[in-house]
Amino acid sequence: MTAPVIRCSKLTKRFDSVLAVDSVDLEIWPGEVIAILGRSGCGKTTLLRLMAGLDVPSDGSIQIEDEVVSTVDYVRPPEERGIGMVVQEYALFPHMTAASNVGFGLRNLDRDRRDSRVNEVLELVQLEELGNRHPFELSGGQQQRVALARTLAPNPVTVLLDEPLSNLDSSMRQQLRQEVETILRSQRTAAVLVTHDREEAFAIADRVGVMIDGKLLQVDTPERIYHFPASRDIAALTGSCDFIPGKSSEHGDVSTELGTLNCRLAAGRMDNGQPVSVLVRPDDVALMHDADGQGVVEAREFRGDQVILTVRLNSGATIRSRLNSYSTLPAGSRVSVSPVKTIPFVAYPADSTSTQTG
Ligand code: ADP
Ligand code: MG
Repeated sequence: MTAPVIRCSKLTKRFDSVLAVDSVDLEIWPGEVIAILGRSGCGKTTLLRLMAGLDVPSDGSIQIEDEVVSTVDYVRPPEERGIGMVVQEYALFPHMTAASNVGFGLRNLDRDRRDSRVNEVLELVQLEELGNRHPFELSGGQQQRVALARTLAPNPVTVLLDEPLSNLDSSMRQQLRQEVETILRSQRTAAVLVTHDREEAFAIADRVGVMIDGKLLQVDTPERIYHFPASRDIAALTGSCDFIPGKSSEHGDVSTELGTLNCRLAAGRMDNGQPVSVLVRPDDVALMHDADGQGVVEAREFRGDQVILTVRLNSGATIRSRLNSYSTLPAGSRVSVSPVKTIPFVAYPADSTSTQTG
């Protein structure tokens, strides 16, 4: 079995009273693309800076391919780690051309080998024609591709990307997102990309780690994170979510006003009769006009490629349902609400507050 390219063990960083990174355990495997998803201020940049060797941990350690490279007492310098980092604000040298920016980390190579590697990575990011331009002559997306090329040029074992797409407008972001993924996969470089954008995390990564308040709470495939979030907070961070009340019975069945739902309990075990909250995502239920239905359409939001209907159930709980753009169910309609999810729902031990997020 190969070793992980990076292993963080109980990695912790404290700034005065702020616990920016709180006892993070994480293994990154060769060639793997991991996204760390979390809101602004949750500790993403600090985690990357620790991995890059730019910060000293307050506790815990980092290993790179089985060698300890960071502890409270010792930090191997960034340039000796085989790790490259792309930051949010591109950070290109303004007075240097794209090609010189890319060649910057290759100064130890002789001129021919350096030029050939520069051309190779410029081609990889599809900027072979623009090597002579200065950063101010390039669009934001092009600058970020230069930054990526510069990071990849020395063949790092791992690339760290700190919200690399967040300064771009949304259509550019989607296009570059795909390009970045293709480029990373073609290099077979392991990558850790941090982002506050769940779509970006889901689209790019093999595994997504959800970070809240410095803690890495769940690391899993995008599908498992979305369908089986380990807590209500993770459910809220990873998609639209509503909760309906239920009572557990045998074999993971939970009785709710939408009928008996097959559920997994997110934490602990499910006792008979235990009150639970069941996560409902907008694609988990179908709506039908029905004078005897369990809910009333309270709001209708047309989004172009979909329509989101908010339905108030008889219990008072609200859920959202995603319909196709042709759907004409108006607000005020009484509807039946049928579960259509083909995998188990997730139930959480009930608590008094009800959460709803976009
Ligand atoms: P993110 O990248 O997820 O937005 P950061 O890692 O930048 O979050 O910050 C995590 C927390 O640590 C925040 O509360 C931030 O204010 C704090 N923090 C980050 N860097 C420093 C620093 N150099 N000095 C003091 N506090 C810091
Ligand atoms: Mg940050």
